[in-house]
Amino acid sequence: MKRSAVSLVELLIVIGIILVLVGILLPILGNAKLRSNETVCASNLKQQSTAMILYSEDHQSQLPPLLPANILALSPYLRSKEIWVCPQDRYDRGSNIDATQRLMKRVSTFPVPTVLEEFFNALVETTPNHGLVTCYLHGHQRSPVLNPNYAINDFSGRVLTVRKDGSLWTRDVKHRCYTDSKGGSYGGRSFWDAYSDQPMPKGALDEINAGLTEIECGPSTR
Ligand SMILES: [Zn+2]
Repeated sequence: MKRSAVSLVELLIVIGIILVLVGILLPILGNAKLRSNETVCASNLKQQSTAMILYSEDHQSQLPPLLPANILALSPYLRSKEIWVCPQDRYDRGSNIDATQRLMKRVSTFPVPTVLEEFFNALVETTPNHGLVTCYLHGHQRSPVLNPNYAINDFSGRVLTVRKDGSLWTRDVKHRCYTDSKGGSYGGRSFWDAYSDQPMPKGALDEINAGLTEIECGPSTR
């Protein structure tokens, strides 16, 4: 009996050691996975931005005109068609729902929306080296359901963007909060922040925000 009791203690110690090791290793492995996903995504974004530049060289310096149809316009400039999905994308419909529907293929990333004229003009004016294509999916995803309004997608944190000069830009952008005329409140990342590190000029997003006003985020919405 005595011998068996010692074995039980030994067993518990071994289990304890294993649990500690798992506790140490899991975050390390998790971070390694995040980093490798980021590398894949960055490479995909880079190919997408190169395709956009090649397209513009063939079209009087104009970027592909429509979001998300621009993704179709880019097909001839891409060697691989398998680059639209970020490994961080957990949504069946792709985080870029419109583009996924039109391409009938999952799309995770967002090429700069040149069709939103106020937005694009303000972007070019304030940020000559603006983002061409971006992925939101490397930060915190606060909700499993995407808000169809791209201006207030419910994400915050890390964003990956390839800029006009081809450089990769990774950074955390803040969660923003909005209210509408009826007192409804919304939270999410400003679409502007994905493409620019400059303050958003008034009016640049008012059109697509359809009357939303930015407010201070409360402790519960931050
Ligand atoms: Zn990504």
